Amino acid sequence: MATVTLNDVRKRFGTTQVIHGVDIDIAEGEFIVIVGPSGCGKSTLLRMVAGLETVTEGEVRINGERVNDKEPMDRDIAMVFQNYALYPHMSVFDNMAYGLKIAKTPRTEIAERVQVAAKLLQLEPYLQRKPRELSGGQRQRVAMGRAIVRKPAVFLFDEPLSNLDAKLRVQMRLEIKQLQRELGVTALYVTHDQVEAMTLADRMVVMNAGRADQIGAPLDVYAHPQTEFVAGFIGSPP
Ligand code: ADP
Ligand code: MG
Repeated sequence: MATVTLNDVRKRFGTTQVIHGVDIDIAEGEFIVIVGPSGCGKSTLLRMVAGLETVTEGEVRINGERVNDKEPMDRDIAMVFQNYALYPHMSVFDNMAYGLKIAKTPRTEIAERVQVAAKLLQLEPYLQRKPRELSGGQRQRVAMGRAIVRKPAVFLFDEPLSNLDAKLRVQMRLEIKQLQRELGVTALYVTHDQVEAMTLADRMVVMNAGRADQIGAPLDVYAHPQTEFVAGFIGSPP
């Protein structure tokens, strides 16, 4: 588990500013959901925490340590994307083991970590299959498995369920929440879906055009929206 802190984080692409100074303090083991409409800067913010985008101004801290200049691999994080491109020619086992092989983890330890993750995700019977031989939900679990085997302290999710049908989305949402509790990791989860945000979040951050309009527990944000934008987006009158 780890804390994550964003201090007045800003991002410019060329001369266009897309993140205007965001402050978020995430506690150990907390599940934070960043929610807002398409284009408001959710992915950019998450990618800065992951180290996939540079931070223009401000700082990102993980467990108190400033990580602005650290490579993604050296941050104690793992990320699950919307387009969780699995390697089609590799088995489920090899897909899950890939990052560990790159990191030169010993073979026996790789096997053990993949086994543990496969058990957690109910993927044990499918370890020798190829991604095309799996259902959408199973593929999503493999993507999560790739993250779990790295044993990160922080999980980052960017709309991980948006390619799944509605029923599966609800089921996987529950699985993600349960898994986060079991593993005791800190989670930062991005979605444009306010229902998803309400059900997953310990606290949610409502983003509007590169700013965090409001941060709070879902029911509190719902009952007491602080801006007209939040009221409109979350769906109750101010
Ligand atoms: P969201 O994930 O909330 O849909 P993004 O973080 O993807 O939003 O994008 C926020 C804004 O930043 C958008 O206006 C987008 O066009 C812009 N943007 C994102 N990535 C880049 C980039 N690499 N270069 C220029 N503009 C970008
Ligand atoms: Mg996005």
